[in-house]
Amino acid sequence: MASKETFDLIVIGSGPGGYVAAVRAAQLGMKTACIEKHTRLGGVCLNVGCIPSKALLDSSEYYHLAQTRFGEHGIKTGRLGLDLKQMLARKEKVVKDLTDNVRQLLEGHDVTILQGTARLAGPNRVILTRGKQKEEAFEAKHILLATGSAPVALPGHPFDEKQIVSATGALAFDAVPKHLGIVGGGYIGLELGSVWMRLGAKVTVIEMLPKIAAGLDGQVGRTLDRLLRKQGMDIRVDTKVAGVKKTAKQIKVAIEKNGKQENLTFDRLLVSIGRRPLTQGLGLSEVGVEVDARSGQVKIDDQYRTSVPSVSAIGDLVPGPMLAHKASAEGIAAVEAMAGQPAEVNYDAIPAIVYTAPEVASVGLTEEQVKERGVPYCTGSYPFTGAGRARCMGETDGFVKVIRHGRTDRVLGIHIIGARAADMIAEGVLAMEFNASSEDIARTIHGHPTFAEALMEAAMGASQCAIYGAQGKASTEGP
Ligand SMILES: Cc1cc2nc3c(=O)[nH]c(=O)nc-3n(C[C@H](O)[C@H](O)[C@H](O)COP(=O)(O)OP(=O)(O)OC[C@H]3O[C@@H](n4cnc5c(N)ncnc54)[C@H](O)[C@@H]3O)c2cc1C
Repeated sequence: MASKETFDLIVIGSGPGGYVAAVRAAQLGMKTACIEKHTRLGGVCLNVGCIPSKALLDSSEYYHLAQTRFGEHGIKTGRLGLDLKQMLARKEKVVKDLTDNVRQLLEGHDVTILQGTARLAGPNRVILTRGKQKEEAFEAKHILLATGSAPVALPGHPFDEKQIVSATGALAFDAVPKHLGIVGGGYIGLELGSVWMRLGAKVTVIEMLPKIAAGLDGQVGRTLDRLLRKQGMDIRVDTKVAGVKKTAKQIKVAIEKNGKQENLTFDRLLVSIGRRPLTQGLGLSEVGVEVDARSGQVKIDDQYRTSVPSVSAIGDLVPGPMLAHKASAEGIAAVEAMAGQPAEVNYDAIPAIVYTAPEVASVGLTEEQVKERGVPYCTGSYPFTGAGRARCMGETDGFVKVIRHGRTDRVLGIHIIGARAADMIAEGVLAMEFNASSEDIARTIHGHPTFAEALMEAAMGASQCAIYGAQGKASTEGP
């Protein structure tokens, strides 16, 4: 098949990795195409991930606050009602507006958008299939794989997206489940569990590990567990799924803890046990792009090149946290590397956020990781009960914890659980990016009254901790 057009770069996938890479490439003067199999651009993040989940988290939080908290502010709400159809329509509008923005952004940078499914047919050749049978070939000096990931199902129980659902189905239930079962207590399960719990569902989370959101700093994770249980979430840790039986209206799940079995009945079951890189049908083995047999991740070097040097890969396809901002950072770095520029992603300063209420946000090492590495350290923490602004808002749950090197004072990790943690963590990321000391944060003037003052206070606590290697919890109540 003769090739139709030649590009400097073809990006396969228009998620936060792919579209950001395509824009950066165009800015660097590359003739760029971006191929997307769906009609809507933006990938998982914009269509069935970050954005719709946060839209529903925000809507459901308003509903919950109106029911439970407005009274204390002297606001009378009368009889509250839920219009789920409107809530879902609003979510769809947010998604549509943002995906339209991505199209405008690409078009504005003269990136050629090609709709169809792509596969590699050589180190510089991509075949695009549109509809049935219709195939076209394109050539490119560089090819960037950014095809993302797909949810993992329970063995023998594929997603039907009605009863047994992935996040995609759980973002679009047409009615509030009576009892929503969630297999997997990671951030996706906890966020979507929070949405439906606030809207009235009973929610049971089944987690195989001894704790939910296992990657969190232990102290923060325990606090999140306690606060979610207090909100009514039924959390079963150390618990395995021993069997699943689906009938027309119910899903019966046998769970097992310490050898003891229990049967639970749900009307909807969300399976959020992880995601796997999406490499199927991409033609990787035919072209010689190596994939890790266990994880399914595409193997890359420090410049994001695969085992075929003209083919690079980024985002959920490659090792590292499966996060939109990590995919975007890699997209920029990969393209800059292609252009011969120095390219690097600082993997030590990637924020991770759980959008529960309260939010959880962290960057850098946890206290457990610091201990494990034998690094001398100090911690300082500060509760939101001590922050004036948090008191004004009635959002006093949680704290900020700063972990710093015991000798150099360099910040090693920042962990926040509390309202607005997601936005506050940006300061922590910047501090880590600049190799700041805890004293730098402590001496930086923070506006008053703000939630961010709690970070300053925690840093003060940590920087004053004089005992080498000690865990100086310098938490003081402030104004
Ligand atoms: C419910 C949920 C909530 C999330 N919330 C957050 C969050 O709050 N913050 C965060 O940072 N991350 C979040 N994530 C993770 C985030 O969505 C992913 O890490 C991110 O989308 C990965 O970006 P990517 O560009 O690698 O791939 P994707 O966003 O998955 O994009 C890949 C694109 O490639 C396309 N594609 C695949 N194969 C082909 C092919 N052969 N030909 C053409 N096109 C193809 C796909 O259709 C898709 O559009 C969430 C995920 C989920 C599921």
